[in-house]
Amino acid sequence: MARAYTFGAPRGTNDRVKQVPGSVTDKLGEVFGEARVSTRLADLDASARDCWPRGLIAGLPDPGSRPLAVVWPEHVEEVSALVELARREGFALAPLGAGSGVCGGFWPDPRTVVVDLKRLTSFEVSEDGAEVRAGAGLLGWDLEQRLEKLGRTAGHFPSSILCSTVGGWAAARGAGQCSGRYGKIEDMVTELECVLGSGRHLVMRSRSGDVDLVPWLVGSEGTLGIITRVGLRLFPAPAERAMVAFSFPTFEDGQEALRVIYQGGLRPAVARLYDAVDSVLHTSKGSEDLPGEPEPRGGSWLPSLDTLEALALRSVLKAPGQLARLVSLLERQGRARSRLLLSFENVSDPAGQAQLATRWCEELGGEPLGEGPVRSWYEHRYDVSFRQSKVFRAGAFSDTMEVAAPWSKLADVYREVRAAIGDRVLLMAHVSHCYPDGAAIYFTFVGHGRSPERALLRYDSVWADALSAAVSAGACVSHHHGVGRSKAGTLAEQGSGAVRDLLGRAWDPEGVLNPGTLGFRGEPATLVGRAPLPGGEAAPHDRPLIQVDRVSQLVDVDAGLTLDELENLLFKQGLTLGAEGSGELRLRDWVAAGLPGLPSRWDDPVARPIAGLRGTLASGARCELSAAPRRAEGPDAAACFTGTGGALGHLERVVLAVARRGVQVDPTPGVRPMATAPSPDERAAFDEVRRASLPARARW
Ligand SMILES: Cc1cc2nc3c(=O)[nH]c(=O)nc-3n(C[C@H](O)[C@H](O)[C@H](O)COP(=O)(O)OP(=O)(O)OC[C@H]3O[C@@H](n4cnc5c(N)ncnc54)[C@H](O)[C@@H]3O)c2cc1C
Repeated sequence: MARAYTFGAPRGTNDRVKQVPGSVTDKLGEVFGEARVSTRLADLDASARDCWPRGLIAGLPDPGSRPLAVVWPEHVEEVSALVELARREGFALAPLGAGSGVCGGFWPDPRTVVVDLKRLTSFEVSEDGAEVRAGAGLLGWDLEQRLEKLGRTAGHFPSSILCSTVGGWAAARGAGQCSGRYGKIEDMVTELECVLGSGRHLVMRSRSGDVDLVPWLVGSEGTLGIITRVGLRLFPAPAERAMVAFSFPTFEDGQEALRVIYQGGLRPAVARLYDAVDSVLHTSKGSEDLPGEPEPRGGSWLPSLDTLEALALRSVLKAPGQLARLVSLLERQGRARSRLLLSFENVSDPAGQAQLATRWCEELGGEPLGEGPVRSWYEHRYDVSFRQSKVFRAGAFSDTMEVAAPWSKLADVYREVRAAIGDRVLLMAHVSHCYPDGAAIYFTFVGHGRSPERALLRYDSVWADALSAAVSAGACVSHHHGVGRSKAGTLAEQGSGAVRDLLGRAWDPEGVLNPGTLGFRGEPATLVGRAPLPGGEAAPHDRPLIQVDRVSQLVDVDAGLTLDELENLLFKQGLTLGAEGSGELRLRDWVAAGLPGLPSRWDDPVARPIAGLRGTLASGARCELSAAPRRAEGPDAAACFTGTGGALGHLERVVLAVARRGVQVDPTPGVRPMATAPSPDERAAFDEVRRASLPARARW
């Protein structure tokens, strides 16, 4: 029976979606059957938002902001039919994994149908054991349990593994606790089955040397396509682990040790370095009430700080600046130190690597603490932020901000964020994802306001100042949590908006998927061509042919240089790009050819060749990515220039990761996933992007 729906005033993020006629639920019923369509309030409320902490401060969703309906597809054909229906009828779709996102990526409004993917739970391991194909709705924990029985692992262990799905991992471009050996999710995905917003159903395969569509969908947060199945690369389950912990005089000393470890070719799967505040609070009584990722336990390394142990949450929050100053003082006196945890697995000699790391850490001032703290961390690795509600009940709020930067900028990012918000909130940080060229730094902040309204004001201003300080100091917008709505404004000021705009036009022309997320269908005009030059850098025409950041082992280089010319310049500095052959190719042609001559990306998933770039799309829109070891902000702009034969634009400069000559990395074990040529469907989907990249008058 047809039902009449009324809607509130259009809300900025969804203006272009047509009003939905009441018969929509009937039509949904025709696709899904009555049992798998719901407009029950309990279902609507349960599917109204993700875990963005701002929502907790703002309170429950008001009745006017509930989604239109929830559906539970069981097959990709149903997802295709749903996308067609949404395009025809003009309602929006919001894909839902487990809703553990923390950035408002999933935030449906009353003209949105929620596509809950939890019934897509297929599981199939390839005959050669190289990869698993899992339904997008399979929970991470279930995936790993099933793999464990087969002696395999996917190597992806986010702290939310109990409450996040495989599709959500790929859509939000996340990172797991063992990223130091296995990489981030974008380094693991072998294949994606999806239905694009244009209605096209296709299977995309990861590859080098040709068009690779996967990096565009990974990190697109449900704005370009609905992922129905994810292929992930597999590793043997680790047979042994070698664990070591250290205490360092300062956070910066610990960072230096991590840099030396990763640039020296070691790949600890777990590498976590806690700053003094994080260290103090997580070994003090009462830390149960604090949010954040798992903390080290098993004995305090600051036994003399009894007074801190007595501080109640509220009184701490009244004077966060004083606490920070106290910890700084203790740090200077050598009484508050930073703790580093390392764990090696799936390398040929875990104990040998741990010994080498120990030698390097000791040379840099680290005091060994044995393996106890790491063991303890493993025991509590998923005891996470379910404590957050306690903080909110105590009249406080908490959130986390994770950004990544080259090693040379990491200390500035830490200092600037502390300077920007350290007086208003209790702030702590740790480094938990490392790469040869940089690392991610994870800030946790806890604050309070006298009323929910004031708390919200403070929360918003703290976020704005912290992110702006981090980005100005050289960090990307997000390393693994994604962008959603929370960081869309800041992302819009970065140089990759033209790529989001391009892919949106090509793959979701009616804008039915997740409007508002990532700033999609916000105000596209503001996203294009406004790439600000990163702080104080020279304009492109003034830049030298090559700028070397020795600390981060990054070279920012003119893309017109040949590989031989680059290698000659690097040789003098003891560095190399490590590409075999193709010496006469210009860098832009080498990138366009898909980086031939580099070792297989599956050998060392932690190293990535391209950290940043500057170019112009065929439409004339400018595109820029400042250097970062990894970023959660999708879709990946580098994929416009890599393996695409120059069809989408012109590369002007590229920031490449290089290595010291002679440094060897132990290749990851297991079978390498098979490479295939692009299918006709992939070619057709790429052609849609190519056409959309042309200036408007030349498109058809
Ligand atoms: C306690 C806690 C700890 C966390 N720890 C980590 C961590 O260690 N590492 C990390 O990376 N993240 C972490 N997160 C964030 C979050 O868990 C991840 O972003 C996770 O990948 C989201 O998965 P999900 O299935 O819950 O996705 P959701 O929250 O449901 O969705 C996330 C986004 O992806 C879209 N989406 C979901 N599924 C699909 C699909 N199949 N197709 C297309 N779009 C889709 C949604 O619309 C939304 O925009 C943590 C969150 C919490 C609450």
